Amino acid sequence: MPIQENYELILQKLPAHVQLIAVSKTQPIDKILELYHLGHRDFGENKVQEMIEKYEKLPQDIRWHMIGHVQSNKIKFMAEFVHLIHGIDKVKRLNEVQKHAQNAGRIQDVLLQIHIAQEETKFGMNEQEARQVMELVKENPWPNVNIKGLMGMATFTENLEQIQKEFQYLNQIYSQLQKDFQQIQILSMGMSGDFEMAIEQGSNMIRVGSAIFGKRNY
Ligand SMILES: *Cc1c(COP(=O)(O)O)cnc(C)c1O
Repeated sequence: MPIQENYELILQKLPAHVQLIAVSKTQPIDKILELYHLGHRDFGENKVQEMIEKYEKLPQDIRWHMIGHVQSNKIKFMAEFVHLIHGIDKVKRLNEVQKHAQNAGRIQDVLLQIHIAQEETKFGMNEQEARQVMELVKENPWPNVNIKGLMGMATFTENLEQIQKEFQYLNQIYSQLQKDFQQIQILSMGMSGDFEMAIEQGSNMIRVGSAIFGKRNY
């Protein structure tokens, strides 16, 4: 199906409180522009280098989301423009983001990635680590970083019950933290195959690639 049709079908399914991030990794400039001309502004990439190349070629009012795993040595290359970094998985990365956000004269919005999947290869903190980070925030060690919420990726499986359980678990952590820390407002979970379930489980930000652009060939 063409991009416009896919996009509009998804928008129809989204409650007003849910924000759609169009995951444009591996997609060429012209496809991203097609969505841009339909009015879309939030795009997600998982590689810093690729995001920078697209940032330089595309309109400046696009909000770029880094949804992939970020290595500390890559943060400085996106510090001047990245809108939201979804995958903060360690305190060490907050120190690095702080340094480069300060140099860029910006307040950097980020999410803490929580490990909810069964695969050990997926990144993220556990609940306790996330809570410890939020307790630390009270002492203001990262004045140029604003932790706005949580992000998670479910296990790569056909087992919908398993995915649902993982989303439920992440939503529980989110709700608990939100009670104690008012800045926690974003729950980024759900992709092409599971975003409706994620929304049922409390997601307010979904990251959708192939359901908009079609299958990626990589
Ligand atoms: C690729 C990717 C997505 C989008 O995946 P689709 O299945 O194409 O919607 C979402 N989140 C992350 C972190 C990704 O890397």
